[in-house]
Amino acid sequence: MIQLQNYINGSLTTPISNEYLDNYNPSTGKVYSKIPDSDHRDVQMAVDAAKKAFEAWSNTSKDDRSAILYRISTLIEQNLDRLAEAESRDNGKPVSLAKRVDIPRAAHNFRFYATAILHFSSESHSMESNAINYTHRDPVGVAGCISPWNLPLYLFSWKIAPALAAGNCVVAKPSEITPMTAFLLSEICIEAGLPKGVLNIVHGYGPKVGEAIVSHPDIPLISFTGGTQTGKHIAQVAAPMFKKLSLELGGKNPTIIFEDCDFDKMLNTVVSSSFDNQGQICLCGSRIFIQDSLYDKFKAEFIKRVDGLKVGDPKLETTNMGALVSASHLNKVLSYVDLAKEEGGRVLTGGSRIRLEGNLEEGWYMEPTVIEGLDYQCRTNQEEIFGPVVTITPFSTIEEVLKMANSTKYGLASSVWTNDINKANYISKKIHAGIVWINCWLLRDLRTPFGGVKQSGVGREGGNEALQFFTEPKNVCIKY
Ligand code: NAD
Repeated sequence: MIQLQNYINGSLTTPISNEYLDNYNPSTGKVYSKIPDSDHRDVQMAVDAAKKAFEAWSNTSKDDRSAILYRISTLIEQNLDRLAEAESRDNGKPVSLAKRVDIPRAAHNFRFYATAILHFSSESHSMESNAINYTHRDPVGVAGCISPWNLPLYLFSWKIAPALAAGNCVVAKPSEITPMTAFLLSEICIEAGLPKGVLNIVHGYGPKVGEAIVSHPDIPLISFTGGTQTGKHIAQVAAPMFKKLSLELGGKNPTIIFEDCDFDKMLNTVVSSSFDNQGQICLCGSRIFIQDSLYDKFKAEFIKRVDGLKVGDPKLETTNMGALVSASHLNKVLSYVDLAKEEGGRVLTGGSRIRLEGNLEEGWYMEPTVIEGLDYQCRTNQEEIFGPVVTITPFSTIEEVLKMANSTKYGLASSVWTNDINKANYISKKIHAGIVWINCWLLRDLRTPFGGVKQSGVGREGGNEALQFFTEPKNVCIKY
């Protein structure tokens, strides 16, 4: 059985505890590898290594840092098949999705920041009173990066790449539920010649390893993606220590469909935005609002398409949906179907666990599920389910749909379907979300700010925003 190792000070190391945790393959429900059960002692070693490496790395020229990040990107691309298969085995997602989305985007993250850092410049402000200001933008030191299980390498690299590009050293923790590609990334970093101590990856539980990173006095900056409850706890620990904090948290994203949309284009994308990655993308639209004149047609066509989705072996090209990430997550998602029924919802399709055959019998598969008839304020429509479950709700006016869309405590992303540019602009202005997609979904330009409002997070990732977050500004004012 494969035994993963931490990546500390440039070497693959065993955890000090010498204890290992089980790592499951969601498609079979069986343990297939072991991951280090690290603790604060491993984190301390990682911090020591990162602190030691910081002086040299922060003084390495941007060109040289860029070249190494570029090499990492190229190696990810060269290992596309191996990484996609590993991501699928670890997470349950179809290999085809990992090949199309997760791994290419992880490579792109490194390539984007390898080049972005070459264009990153500090500001200068001249004053009328014969004075000029310029701003230094220095790396912060040791950055703590913590990521979730749904898009493992993609989100891990989304933090690590800008942190390293900006000249920081990093202590990072992937989710203990999906650690495999982060482990493979350590091997890639060694091969790419990343100097020792610049990136350190410590595996293990959140309350042990994650907590030790967040509370470490020598880590002045935390970049976290995960659940809102965890984010709240992290903020409570980090705020009194005056750490820089970026939090990318949960969502309950609305998809808003107007009668004047391009129906076929909309339908194709809305099937994806509902069920890609088994609905486990923080940007998935789990509340679908449809203008009433289009409601019946949408319902009939959508259900037909959803019923055609193939839930199956993630290794097969023909599979649209693989397994959910864990038994406990599957049970949580199923419990929301029960709740929806209690709240008066009608399950139009799906709603149950699927038992596949052979060695996939114990895998954590679930039918794509569509529910109607729920009040927009009920728990099913307010709480993040994070699985293959969507609700459909009719609306008549823009103001009504805005009220429903904006009613949750979240505000991450939204997707709006209309061919009326005025309506699109109006709703974009009024909607509570950090990201608005008009007539599209999941289209990403890495230069744009990425993140949410309300309880979906604090701060923005992407482009210059991330480089600014991972650097500390210092203003110098000169009178002449
Ligand atoms: P989670 O909060 O349970 O875990 C995220 C990470 O935090 C894991 O690595 C975990 O080990 C670690 N962690 C747990 N407790 C910790 C602690 N006390 N201190 C420090 N670290 C700790 O989230 P999850 O279940 O892995 O991921 C799903 C959630 O992530 C969903 O809510 C989803 O919406 C959210 N998410 C948000 C975005 C975004 O960009 N906004 C992207 C992807 C996922």
